[in-house]
Amino acid sequence: MIVGGGYAGVTLARALDDAFDVVLLERRDQFYHNVGAMRGYADASFFERLLIPYDRLLRRGRVVQDEAVLAEGGGVRGLVGRYEGDIVVVASGSRHRMPFKSLFTEAGAFLREAGRLSAELAEAESVEVCGDGPVAVELAGEIRWRYPKKAVTLVVKGERLLTGAGNPRLGERAAGQLREMGVRVAYGGVGTGAGLRIAGYGAEFSVPCLGAAGRVAVDDRFRVVGREGVFAIGDAADCGEPALTFLARRQALHLAGQFLGKKAGYGRAGRVPMSVPLGPERGVTQLPLPGLPVAGSWVTARLKGRRLFVAENRERMGYSG
Ligand SMILES: Cc1cc2nc3c(=O)[nH]c(=O)nc-3n(C[C@H](O)[C@H](O)[C@H](O)COP(=O)(O)OP(=O)(O)OC[C@H]3O[C@@H](n4cnc5c(N)ncnc54)[C@H](O)[C@@H]3O)c2cc1C
Repeated sequence: MIVGGGYAGVTLARALDDAFDVVLLERRDQFYHNVGAMRGYADASFFERLLIPYDRLLRRGRVVQDEAVLAEGGGVRGLVGRYEGDIVVVASGSRHRMPFKSLFTEAGAFLREAGRLSAELAEAESVEVCGDGPVAVELAGEIRWRYPKKAVTLVVKGERLLTGAGNPRLGERAAGQLREMGVRVAYGGVGTGAGLRIAGYGAEFSVPCLGAAGRVAVDDRFRVVGREGVFAIGDAADCGEPALTFLARRQALHLAGQFLGKKAGYGRAGRVPMSVPLGPERGVTQLPLPGLPVAGSWVTARLKGRRLFVAENRERMGYSG
């Protein structure tokens, strides 16, 4: 019984499909590849590529559309039904503003609201994107790539960009590239106050179905502390790693190995990469190598910026191209 069909839940469900009777409980009718959200914001037609139906994900198991309200050893209570399971894995992720994550249960409703936001952006003469993290930085770059004549300001509270990266050079190089592209970077939280203001921050971590106000503490086997028979992975779980897609997938694959008797305790990822495209051809990447070297546009475009892992995610869901 898996709660949440995001990156972690989908990866786990697929890895266990042959060996277990998998039920994946997901509140939405389609998977949302939110890594591509910033490009979608700048170019609404892209959003359709980011939504992928669940119908081809599992061969034996099933995906049920319902929202879990209580997860406990032995099963899950949803808004619609009750689901029994010897093992319960919570992979309910995190939340963010639209369109960075979806607030909607139906893809059609998501597309209408996301399209409205993109249209609002298209019409604005000037835009202020607020935030210093990857979402804000990437969005500022994507907007300027899509609308080279629009006045774009990145409004940053402090004095640096991408402070979550291990190597401060990543933020410095991103700031340099943004300036070259014609994006004004306003430090100290002072923008012009004019034009459209977009908040590029605001991730929320809580796990209501486990009554947790933040990420839930798990041990090195992803067991939720104090809850027999309940596991958690991905953004929902605090195993000492940052909340990232590829770590959510890595944890899911490890947990699958654990259930299949092939893996024991989890070894935390050491060096963490961070790749921030600024449109398809520019951007910066911190590589997970000794010293966390920072690569520029050539590497970033080929690694992530041109395709944003869309095909990989569609393939994982059983859809080609
Ligand atoms: C805009 C943006 C861009 C990002 N880009 C990157 C990137 O480039 N690289 C990277 O590594 N990370 C990136 N991240 C972080 C990444 O999105 C998360 O780490 C990732 O989504 C975590 O996957 P997950 O499966 O744990 O959770 P989620 O992807 O949040 O999936 C959780 C799923 O559970 C469902 N759900 C929630 N509650 C319930 C419930 N009660 N019942 C049923 N279903 C439920 C949700 O609908 C959702 O489908 C980005 C984040 C944002 C916001």
